Amino acid sequence: MRIAFTHAELEEILTPWKIDGQRIAFVPTMGALHAGHVSLMQLAREYADKVVASIFVNPTQFAPHEDFEHYPRQEAADMDKLEESGVDLVYLPLESGIYADGLEPYVQPGSAAEGLETLFRPHFFGGVVNVVERLFSHIQPDIAIFGEKDFQQLQVIREMVETYNMPIRIIGGPIVRDSEGLALSSRNAYLSPEELAVARQMNKILLRIASLREPARLEAIQKAPQDLLAAGFDKIDYVQPRWNRLLAAAWLGKTRLIDNVPLA
Ligand code: AMP
Repeated sequence: MRIAFTHAELEEILTPWKIDGQRIAFVPTMGALHAGHVSLMQLAREYADKVVASIFVNPTQFAPHEDFEHYPRQEAADMDKLEESGVDLVYLPLESGIYADGLEPYVQPGSAAEGLETLFRPHFFGGVVNVVERLFSHIQPDIAIFGEKDFQQLQVIREMVETYNMPIRIIGGPIVRDSEGLALSSRNAYLSPEELAVARQMNKILLRIASLREPARLEAIQKAPQDLLAAGFDKIDYVQPRWNRLLAAAWLGKTRLIDNVPLA
């Protein structure tokens, strides 16, 4: 597995692959890797000859009061997981390499960013599209893989690629869950054993609502925040249908969890 820390090192490795006609799939991450990330690396392999992953905890998608400083960082374990997943190249840029020209946004999120996450994290998608645009321009992959776990993010990225005519195919990877249905997340590491038990209720509640027919479903969606609070969540940001999914975000202590399930 090759490692690049700078844009120049990256190009030195990528250029011969591209001259050779190898198809490149790219999986961006913020590290603290788990089986959800690994599944995206494996999916990438199905679409390409070379798999490139990045680890970069992007400061511009965190608000000042959020967990940027405390976001889990475990580079050695991450490198082992990437190596085991058969990743060909890992890009570990410095902040000064990504934002060499400053933090000015080059791209704007489109209508997919309206509502849901944006009502609670207004800075978030602006940060996401700007780091992804910069990573795309450094790597210039044929394909990029994003998890359905962050379903709105996936739609925002699809819209960005379309709006700005980026020649990159975006693929969504299914959500990987633990044995009780909890969507794997790097932030699950923040949860105490008691909070973990509560967290595992979120998917069960969403699935139960999704299994209902209208008009019972709409009624259940409106009641969902109460159900989540009764299950032990501390604050509910939203439970809302969109893109034929039921999407939710809720707080457990200082930890914010998101999940979504398909609506049949
Ligand atoms: P992150 O490191 O949290 O920024 O996530 C990097 C990528 O992994 C994003 O495209 C996420 O949507 C995806 N991802 C995170 N958790 C999961 C999961 N449980 N299943 C599938 N993909 C995931």
